[in-house]
Amino acid sequence: MTSEVSNLFYMARQPRPFLDRAEGIYMYDQSGKRYIDGSSGAMVSNIGHSNPNVLAAMKAQMDKSTFGYRLHFRTEASEFLATKAASMMPEGLDRVFFVSGGSEAVESAIKLARQYAITQGQASRWKVISRFPSYHGCTLGALALTGYDPLARPFDPMMRDMPKIAAPTCYLDRDNLSDEARGLKYADLLREEIIAQGPESVLAFIMEPIGGASTGALVAPDSYYARIREICDEFGILLIYDEVMTGVGRTGAFIAADHWGIVPDIVAMSKGFAAGYAPLGAVVAKASMVEALLDAGGFLHGYTYAGNPLACSAGLAVLQEVERLGLVSNAANMGDILKGRLTDLMERYPFIGDVRGKGLLLAFELVSDRETMTPLPKELNAYLTLVELAYERGLIIYSRRTRGGVEGDHFLVCPPLIITPEQIEEIMAILIDSLDAFARQNNL
Ligand code: PLP
Repeated sequence: MTSEVSNLFYMARQPRPFLDRAEGIYMYDQSGKRYIDGSSGAMVSNIGHSNPNVLAAMKAQMDKSTFGYRLHFRTEASEFLATKAASMMPEGLDRVFFVSGGSEAVESAIKLARQYAITQGQASRWKVISRFPSYHGCTLGALALTGYDPLARPFDPMMRDMPKIAAPTCYLDRDNLSDEARGLKYADLLREEIIAQGPESVLAFIMEPIGGASTGALVAPDSYYARIREICDEFGILLIYDEVMTGVGRTGAFIAADHWGIVPDIVAMSKGFAAGYAPLGAVVAKASMVEALLDAGGFLHGYTYAGNPLACSAGLAVLQEVERLGLVSNAANMGDILKGRLTDLMERYPFIGDVRGKGLLLAFELVSDRETMTPLPKELNAYLTLVELAYERGLIIYSRRTRGGVEGDHFLVCPPLIITPEQIEEIMAILIDSLDAFARQNNL
Protein backbone atom coordinates (compact mmCIF):
# COMPACT_ATOMS: atom_id res chain seq x y z
CA MET A 1 0.00 0.00 0.00
CA THR A 2 1.26 3.50 -0.75
CA SER A 3 -0.02 6.86 0.32
CA GLU A 4 0.97 10.41 -0.44
CA VAL A 5 -1.38 11.96 2.06
CA SER A 6 0.13 11.57 5.49
CA ASN A 7 -1.92 12.49 8.48
CA LEU A 8 1.17 12.62 10.67
CA PHE A 9 2.71 16.06 10.48
CA TYR A 10 5.95 15.01 12.09
CA MET A 11 9.48 16.21 11.59
CA ALA A 12 10.04 13.27 9.25
CA ARG A 13 13.49 11.77 9.44
CA GLN A 14 13.37 9.07 6.79
CA PRO A 15 10.33 7.79 4.94
CA ARG A 16 9.31 4.63 6.77
CA PRO A 17 7.73 1.48 5.38
CA PHE A 18 4.19 0.46 6.27
CA LEU A 19 3.97 -1.78 9.30
CA ASP A 20 2.33 -5.08 8.50
CA ARG A 21 2.33 -7.14 11.70
CA ALA A 22 4.22 -7.57 14.94
CA GLU A 23 4.73 -10.42 17.35
CA GLY A 24 6.80 -10.60 20.54
CA ILE A 25 9.90 -8.46 20.05
CA TYR A 26 9.66 -8.57 16.24
CA MET A 27 7.93 -6.28 13.76
CA TYR A 28 7.45 -6.86 10.01
CA ASP A 29 6.93 -4.35 7.22
CA GLN A 30 4.79 -5.02 4.16
CA SER A 31 7.74 -6.38 2.20
CA GLY A 32 8.18 -9.03 4.88
CA LYS A 33 11.39 -7.49 6.29
CA ARG A 34 11.83 -8.24 9.99
CA TYR A 35 12.91 -5.70 12.61
CA ILE A 36 13.80 -6.26 16.24
CA ASP A 37 11.89 -3.72 18.31
CA GLY A 38 14.97 -2.72 20.28
CA SER A 39 13.31 0.36 21.77
CA SER A 40 9.80 -1.04 22.40
CA GLY A 41 8.62 1.71 20.05
CA ALA A 42 9.12 4.75 22.25
CA MET A 43 9.70 2.58 25.37
CA VAL A 44 6.04 1.50 25.24
CA SER A 45 5.68 -2.14 24.19
CA ASN A 46 6.86 -3.59 27.50
CA ILE A 47 5.14 -6.96 27.13
CA GLY A 48 5.91 -7.32 23.42
CA HIS A 49 3.52 -7.31 20.50
CA SER A 50 0.34 -9.34 19.89
CA ASN A 51 0.19 -10.89 23.34
CA PRO A 52 -2.73 -13.36 22.99
CA ASN A 53 -4.09 -12.84 26.51
CA VAL A 54 -4.27 -9.07 26.10
CA LEU A 55 -5.91 -9.42 22.69
CA ALA A 56 -8.45 -11.88 24.12
CA ALA A 57 -9.29 -9.54 27.02
CA MET A 58 -9.78 -6.63 24.61
CA LYS A 59 -11.96 -8.73 22.30
CA ALA A 60 -14.10 -9.85 25.24
CA GLN A 61 -14.52 -6.20 26.31
CA MET A 62 -15.36 -5.17 22.75
CA ASP A 63 -18.17 -7.71 22.69
CA LYS A 64 -19.64 -6.11 25.82
CA SER A 65 -19.13 -2.35 25.38
CA THR A 66 -16.43 -0.08 24.06
CA PHE A 67 -17.51 3.18 25.65
CA GLY A 68 -19.44 4.34 28.65
CA TYR A 69 -19.16 7.98 29.64
CA ARG A 70 -17.90 8.34 33.19
CA LEU A 71 -20.75 10.59 34.31
CA HIS A 72 -23.25 7.98 33.15
CA PHE A 73 -21.68 4.68 34.16
CA ARG A 74 -18.91 3.10 36.09
CA THR A 75 -17.28 0.21 34.24
CA GLU A 76 -15.80 -2.96 35.67
CA ALA A 77 -12.78 -2.57 33.39
CA SER A 78 -11.75 0.73 34.93
CA GLU A 79 -12.65 -0.30 38.52
CA PHE A 80 -10.66 -3.54 38.25
CA LEU A 81 -7.72 -1.80 36.63
CA ALA A 82 -7.64 0.94 39.28
CA THR A 83 -7.67 -1.66 42.06
CA LYS A 84 -4.97 -3.74 40.36
CA ALA A 85 -2.74 -0.74 39.65
CA ALA A 86 -3.08 0.58 43.22
CA SER A 87 -2.15 -2.86 44.59
CA MET A 88 1.14 -2.73 42.66
CA MET A 89 2.07 0.78 43.82
CA PRO A 90 3.87 1.75 47.04
CA GLU A 91 1.67 1.77 50.13
CA GLY A 92 -0.33 4.98 50.35
CA LEU A 93 -0.57 5.64 46.62
CA ASP A 94 -4.04 4.29 46.17
CA ARG A 95 -6.20 6.62 44.14
CA VAL A 96 -6.07 6.29 40.35
CA PHE A 97 -7.24 8.80 37.76
CA PHE A 98 -7.22 7.59 34.16
CA VAL A 99 -6.07 9.51 31.11
CA SER A 100 -5.10 8.56 27.56
CA GLY A 101 -1.37 9.29 27.43
CA GLY A 102 1.74 10.64 29.12
CA SER A 103 1.24 14.35 28.46
CA GLU A 104 -2.31 14.11 29.80
CA ALA A 105 -0.97 12.31 32.86
CA VAL A 106 1.50 15.11 33.59
CA GLU A 107 -1.11 17.82 32.95
CA SER A 108 -3.47 16.06 35.31
CA ALA A 109 -0.79 15.58 37.96
CA ILE A 110 0.05 19.28 38.14
CA LYS A 111 -3.58 20.35 38.12
CA LEU A 112 -4.32 17.86 40.89
CA ALA A 113 -1.41 19.29 42.87
CA ARG A 114 -2.61 22.85 42.36
CA GLN A 115 -6.20 22.15 43.29
CA TYR A 116 -5.09 20.20 46.36
CA ALA A 117 -2.95 23.15 47.49
CA ILE A 118 -6.00 25.42 47.21
CA THR A 119 -8.01 23.05 49.43
CA GLN A 120 -5.18 23.37 51.98
CA GLY A 121 -5.42 27.18 52.00
CA GLN A 122 -2.20 27.46 49.96
CA ALA A 123 -3.40 29.25 46.86
CA SER A 124 -0.09 31.14 46.69
CA ARG A 125 1.61 27.94 45.53
CA TRP A 126 1.66 27.46 41.75
CA LYS A 127 5.26 27.07 40.55
CA VAL A 128 6.30 23.59 39.51
CA ILE A 129 10.06 23.19 39.50
CA SER A 130 11.44 20.69 37.00
CA ARG A 131 14.86 19.77 35.62
CA PHE A 132 16.95 20.61 32.61
CA PRO A 133 17.14 18.54 30.47
CA SER A 134 13.87 16.68 30.92
CA TYR A 135 10.84 15.57 28.98
CA HIS A 136 7.34 15.72 30.42
CA GLY A 137 5.19 15.93 27.31
CA CYS A 138 4.14 18.28 24.57
CA THR A 139 0.85 19.83 25.68
CA LEU A 140 1.41 23.41 26.84
CA GLY A 141 1.30 22.68 30.59
CA ALA A 142 3.61 19.69 30.34
CA LEU A 143 5.82 21.50 27.86
CA ALA A 144 6.33 24.34 30.34
CA LEU A 145 7.99 21.74 32.59
CA THR A 146 9.96 20.13 29.78
CA GLY A 147 13.62 21.09 29.72
CA TYR A 148 14.29 20.62 26.04
CA ASP A 149 14.70 23.88 24.15
CA PRO A 150 14.14 22.77 20.55
CA LEU A 151 10.63 21.60 21.40
CA ALA A 152 9.71 24.29 23.91
CA ARG A 153 11.14 27.64 22.76
CA PRO A 154 8.79 28.36 19.82
CA PHE A 155 5.87 28.22 22.26
CA ASP A 156 7.42 30.47 24.92
CA PRO A 157 4.88 33.27 24.60
CA MET A 158 2.05 30.79 25.10
CA MET A 159 3.41 29.22 28.28
CA ARG A 160 3.95 30.25 31.87
CA ASP A 161 7.68 30.09 32.56
CA MET A 162 8.50 27.45 35.17
CA PRO A 163 11.78 27.25 37.13
CA LYS A 164 14.28 24.52 36.22
CA ILE A 165 17.28 23.03 38.02
CA ALA A 166 20.08 21.04 36.40
CA ALA A 167 19.47 17.30 36.08
CA PRO A 168 22.14 15.23 37.87
CA THR A 169 24.39 14.65 34.84
CA CYS A 170 27.08 13.26 37.14
CA TYR A 171 28.80 11.28 34.38
CA LEU A 172 29.96 14.59 32.90
CA ASP A 173 31.49 15.85 36.15
CA ARG A 174 35.24 15.68 36.56
CA ASP A 175 35.52 16.60 40.26
CA ASN A 176 36.71 14.30 43.03
CA LEU A 177 33.42 14.06 44.87
CA SER A 178 32.14 10.70 46.02
CA ASP A 179 28.94 9.47 44.38
CA GLU A 180 27.04 10.20 47.54
CA ALA A 181 28.33 13.77 47.79
CA ARG A 182 27.62 14.38 44.14
CA GLY A 183 24.04 13.15 44.56
CA LEU A 184 23.56 15.54 47.47
CA LYS A 185 25.13 18.39 45.53
CA TYR A 186 22.62 18.03 42.69
CA ALA A 187 19.67 17.52 45.05
CA ASP A 188 20.57 20.68 46.97
CA LEU A 189 20.05 22.65 43.75
CA LEU A 190 16.36 22.10 44.46
CA ARG A 191 16.67 23.62 47.93
CA GLU A 192 18.47 26.66 46.52
CA GLU A 193 15.84 27.10 43.80
CA ILE A 194 12.94 26.84 46.25
CA ILE A 195 14.52 29.53 48.42
CA ALA A 196 15.25 31.72 45.39
CA GLN A 197 11.66 31.40 44.15
CA GLY A 198 10.11 31.92 47.59
CA PRO A 199 8.91 28.66 49.21
CA GLU A 200 5.35 29.94 49.58
CA SER A 201 5.06 30.16 45.78
CA VAL A 202 6.34 26.65 45.03
CA LEU A 203 3.72 23.96 44.51
CA ALA A 204 5.66 20.90 43.38
CA PHE A 205 8.83 19.38 42.02
CA ILE A 206 8.55 16.99 39.09
CA MET A 207 11.27 14.61 37.94
CA GLU A 208 11.81 11.55 35.79
CA PRO A 209 13.38 9.19 38.35
CA ILE A 210 15.50 7.77 35.57
CA GLY A 211 15.74 9.99 32.53
CA GLY A 212 14.22 8.78 29.30
CA ALA A 213 14.89 10.29 25.93
CA SER A 214 15.78 13.60 27.60
CA THR A 215 19.02 12.47 29.20
CA GLY A 216 19.43 8.94 27.88
CA ALA A 217 18.71 6.71 30.87
CA LEU A 218 20.36 8.98 33.42
CA VAL A 219 20.37 7.46 36.92
CA ALA A 220 21.35 9.68 39.85
CA PRO A 221 23.42 8.47 42.81
CA ASP A 222 21.24 6.87 45.54
CA SER A 223 21.70 9.85 47.86
CA TYR A 224 19.91 12.11 45.37
CA TYR A 225 16.51 10.46 45.69
CA ALA A 226 16.25 10.50 49.48
CA ARG A 227 17.51 14.08 49.69
CA ILE A 228 14.97 15.33 47.15
CA ARG A 229 12.17 13.76 49.20
CA GLU A 230 13.55 15.40 52.36
CA ILE A 231 13.75 18.82 50.72
CA CYS A 232 10.16 18.59 49.43
CA ASP A 233 8.98 17.64 52.92
CA GLU A 234 10.97 20.45 54.51
CA PHE A 235 9.11 23.05 52.44
CA GLY A 236 5.73 21.26 52.13
CA ILE A 237 6.21 20.85 48.40
CA LEU A 238 4.58 17.99 46.52
CA LEU A 239 6.90 15.49 44.88
CA ILE A 240 5.68 14.29 41.50
CA TYR A 241 7.43 11.35 39.85
CA ASP A 242 6.98 11.27 36.10
CA GLU A 243 7.06 7.50 35.59
CA VAL A 244 5.51 7.68 32.14
CA MET A 245 8.53 5.87 30.71
CA THR A 246 9.95 4.16 33.79
CA GLY A 247 6.68 2.72 35.14
CA VAL A 248 5.38 -0.85 34.88
CA GLY A 249 8.62 -2.74 35.21
CA ARG A 250 10.83 -1.01 32.66
CA THR A 251 13.67 -0.37 35.12
CA GLY A 252 13.42 -3.67 37.01
CA ALA A 253 11.02 -2.39 39.69
CA PHE A 254 7.27 -1.84 39.25
CA ILE A 255 7.88 1.90 39.40
CA ALA A 256 11.39 3.29 39.54
CA ALA A 257 10.67 4.96 42.90
CA ASP A 258 10.67 1.43 44.40
CA HIS A 259 14.44 1.15 43.84
CA TRP A 260 14.97 3.80 46.49
CA GLY A 261 11.92 3.19 48.68
CA ILE A 262 10.61 6.66 47.85
CA VAL A 263 6.89 7.34 48.05
CA PRO A 264 6.12 10.33 45.82
CA ASP A 265 2.91 12.28 46.42
CA ILE A 266 1.77 11.85 42.83
CA VAL A 267 2.93 9.48 40.07
CA ALA A 268 2.24 9.95 36.35
CA MET A 269 2.17 6.75 34.30
CA SER A 270 1.47 5.82 30.69
CA LYS A 271 3.50 4.00 27.98
CA GLY A 272 4.01 0.55 29.58
CA PHE A 273 0.69 0.86 31.44
CA ALA A 274 -1.25 -0.52 28.48
CA ALA A 275 2.00 -1.30 26.64
CA GLY A 276 0.81 0.04 23.30
CA TYR A 277 -2.38 -2.04 23.16
CA ALA A 278 -4.48 1.08 23.79
CA PRO A 279 -3.89 4.77 24.53
CA LEU A 280 -3.91 4.84 28.32
CA GLY A 281 -2.24 6.58 31.22
CA ALA A 282 -2.92 7.22 34.86
CA VAL A 283 -2.23 9.60 37.69
CA VAL A 284 -1.86 7.84 41.00
CA ALA A 285 -2.09 9.93 44.15
CA LYS A 286 -2.39 9.66 47.90
CA ALA A 287 -5.91 9.05 49.17
CA SER A 288 -5.69 12.00 51.57
CA MET A 289 -5.12 14.39 48.67
CA VAL A 290 -7.95 13.04 46.57
CA GLU A 291 -10.33 13.03 49.52
CA ALA A 292 -9.54 16.69 50.25
CA LEU A 293 -10.37 17.44 46.64
CA LEU A 294 -13.61 15.49 46.72
CA ASP A 295 -14.64 17.28 49.92
CA ALA A 296 -14.08 20.56 48.10
CA GLY A 297 -16.35 19.55 45.22
CA GLY A 298 -14.17 17.29 43.08
CA PHE A 299 -11.32 17.52 40.60
CA LEU A 300 -11.89 20.33 38.10
CA HIS A 301 -10.46 18.27 35.31
CA GLY A 302 -11.28 15.31 33.12
CA TYR A 303 -11.09 13.97 29.60
CA THR A 304 -13.92 12.41 27.57
CA TYR A 305 -11.95 9.20 27.10
CA ALA A 306 -10.83 8.91 30.72
CA GLY A 307 -11.41 5.36 31.92
CA ASN A 308 -12.42 4.11 28.47
CA PRO A 309 -13.38 0.47 29.05
CA LEU A 310 -11.55 -0.92 26.05
CA ALA A 311 -8.33 0.85 27.02
CA CYS A 312 -8.78 -0.22 30.65
CA SER A 313 -9.38 -3.86 29.65
CA ALA A 314 -6.05 -3.71 27.82
CA GLY A 315 -4.36 -2.10 30.84
CA LEU A 316 -5.69 -4.71 33.24
CA ALA A 317 -4.61 -7.59 30.99
CA VAL A 318 -1.17 -5.99 30.58
CA LEU A 319 -0.67 -5.73 34.36
CA GLN A 320 -1.79 -9.34 34.73
CA GLU A 321 0.71 -10.43 32.07
CA VAL A 322 3.47 -8.40 33.74
CA GLU A 323 2.78 -10.39 36.91
CA ARG A 324 2.18 -13.80 35.30
CA LEU A 325 5.36 -13.64 33.22
CA GLY A 326 7.48 -12.15 36.01
CA LEU A 327 8.45 -9.26 33.76
CA VAL A 328 9.65 -6.93 36.50
CA SER A 329 12.36 -9.35 37.56
CA ASN A 330 13.03 -10.35 33.94
CA ALA A 331 13.68 -6.67 33.19
CA ALA A 332 16.17 -6.56 36.07
CA ASN A 333 17.93 -9.78 35.01
CA MET A 334 17.95 -9.18 31.26
CA GLY A 335 18.91 -5.57 31.93
CA ASP A 336 22.03 -6.73 33.76
CA ILE A 337 23.00 -8.95 30.84
CA LEU A 338 22.31 -6.33 28.20
CA LYS A 339 24.08 -3.58 30.15
CA GLY A 340 27.10 -5.86 30.50
CA ARG A 341 27.13 -6.57 26.75
CA LEU A 342 26.82 -2.85 25.94
CA THR A 343 29.62 -2.04 28.37
CA ASP A 344 31.82 -4.66 26.61
CA LEU A 345 31.45 -2.57 23.45
CA MET A 346 33.48 0.22 25.07
CA GLU A 347 36.62 -1.88 24.51
CA ARG A 348 35.90 -2.26 20.83
CA TYR A 349 34.72 1.30 20.17
CA PRO A 350 36.67 4.14 21.82
CA PHE A 351 33.92 6.50 20.71
CA ILE A 352 31.43 5.04 23.16
CA GLY A 353 31.81 7.39 26.12
CA ASP A 354 29.27 6.03 28.58
CA VAL A 355 26.83 3.18 29.10
CA ARG A 356 24.12 3.80 31.68
CA GLY A 357 20.64 2.96 32.90
CA LYS A 358 18.81 0.45 35.03
CA GLY A 359 16.79 -2.64 34.14
CA LEU A 360 15.86 -2.43 30.49
CA LEU A 361 16.02 1.36 30.33
CA LEU A 362 19.57 1.47 28.96
CA ALA A 363 21.55 3.90 26.85
CA PHE A 364 25.00 4.49 25.44
CA GLU A 365 26.46 7.82 24.46
CA LEU A 366 28.91 8.51 21.63
CA VAL A 367 31.78 10.97 22.10
CA SER A 368 34.94 12.04 20.34
CA ASP A 369 36.95 11.82 23.59
CA ARG A 370 35.98 9.54 26.44
CA GLU A 371 38.23 11.24 28.99
CA THR A 372 36.70 14.66 28.53
CA MET A 373 33.32 13.36 27.27
CA THR A 374 33.60 15.78 24.34
CA PRO A 375 30.64 15.11 22.04
CA LEU A 376 31.05 14.03 18.43
CA PRO A 377 30.89 16.97 16.00
CA LYS A 378 27.28 17.96 15.42
CA GLU A 379 27.75 17.71 11.62
CA LEU A 380 28.19 13.93 11.90
CA ASN A 381 24.55 13.73 12.88
CA ALA A 382 25.48 10.57 14.75
CA TYR A 383 22.13 10.29 16.49
CA LEU A 384 20.43 9.99 13.11
CA THR A 385 23.00 8.04 11.10
CA LEU A 386 23.59 5.21 13.57
CA VAL A 387 19.84 4.75 13.98
CA GLU A 388 19.51 4.48 10.18
CA LEU A 389 22.38 1.99 9.91
CA ALA A 390 20.68 -0.19 12.52
CA TYR A 391 17.26 0.22 10.92
CA GLU A 392 18.60 -0.94 7.53
CA ARG A 393 19.95 -4.01 9.30
CA GLY A 394 16.65 -4.74 11.05
CA LEU A 395 17.17 -3.24 14.50
CA ILE A 396 15.17 -0.33 15.89
CA ILE A 397 16.84 1.84 18.54
CA TYR A 398 15.92 5.31 19.80
CA SER A 399 18.18 8.34 19.86
CA ARG A 400 18.46 12.02 20.77
CA ARG A 401 21.12 14.68 20.64
CA THR A 402 20.99 16.58 23.88
CA ARG A 403 22.31 16.62 27.43
CA GLY A 404 22.89 19.20 30.15
CA GLY A 405 23.85 22.53 28.71
CA VAL A 406 26.02 20.71 26.15
CA GLU A 407 25.06 18.56 23.21
CA GLY A 408 25.68 14.83 22.90
CA ASP A 409 24.37 11.80 20.99
CA HIS A 410 22.75 9.11 23.07
CA PHE A 411 21.00 5.91 22.02
CA LEU A 412 18.38 4.07 24.02
CA VAL A 413 18.39 0.28 23.83
CA CYS A 414 15.16 -0.70 25.57
CA PRO A 415 13.66 -3.91 24.18
CA PRO A 416 10.38 -5.37 25.47
CA LEU A 417 10.69 -6.85 28.96
CA ILE A 418 9.94 -10.34 27.59
CA ILE A 419 13.36 -10.47 25.94
CA THR A 420 15.52 -13.60 26.31
CA PRO A 421 19.34 -13.92 26.50
CA GLU A 422 19.37 -15.34 22.93
CA GLN A 423 17.43 -12.35 21.65
CA ILE A 424 19.85 -10.02 23.41
CA GLU A 425 22.60 -11.65 21.31
CA GLU A 426 20.54 -10.97 18.16
CA ILE A 427 20.38 -7.31 19.13
CA MET A 428 24.10 -7.20 19.86
CA ALA A 429 25.05 -8.78 16.50
CA ILE A 430 23.14 -6.13 14.54
CA LEU A 431 24.32 -3.33 16.80
CA ILE A 432 27.97 -4.32 16.34
CA ASP A 433 27.52 -4.52 12.58
CA SER A 434 25.93 -1.05 12.63
CA LEU A 435 28.64 0.46 14.86
CA ASP A 436 31.33 -1.05 12.58
CA ALA A 437 29.66 0.62 9.59
CA PHE A 438 29.37 3.89 11.53
CA ALA A 439 33.08 3.76 12.46
CA ARG A 440 34.08 3.07 8.83
CA GLN A 441 31.89 5.87 7.48
CA ASN A 442 33.35 8.40 9.91
CA ASN A 443 36.96 7.15 10.19
CA LEU A 444 36.59 6.64 13.91
N1 PLP B 1 6.79 12.06 30.37
C1 PLP B 1 7.83 11.29 30.00
C2 PLP B 1 8.90 10.96 31.00
C3 PLP B 1 7.92 10.79 28.70
O1 PLP B 1 8.96 10.04 28.36
C4 PLP B 1 6.89 11.11 27.79
C5 PLP B 1 6.97 10.64 26.41
O2 PLP B 1 7.99 10.24 25.91
C6 PLP B 1 5.83 11.91 28.22
C7 PLP B 1 5.81 12.36 29.53
C8 PLP B 1 4.72 12.28 27.28
O3 PLP B 1 3.97 11.15 26.93
P1 PLP B 1 3.04 11.14 25.65
O4 PLP B 1 3.94 11.19 24.45
O5 PLP B 1 2.28 9.85 25.76
O6 PLP B 1 2.13 12.31 25.73
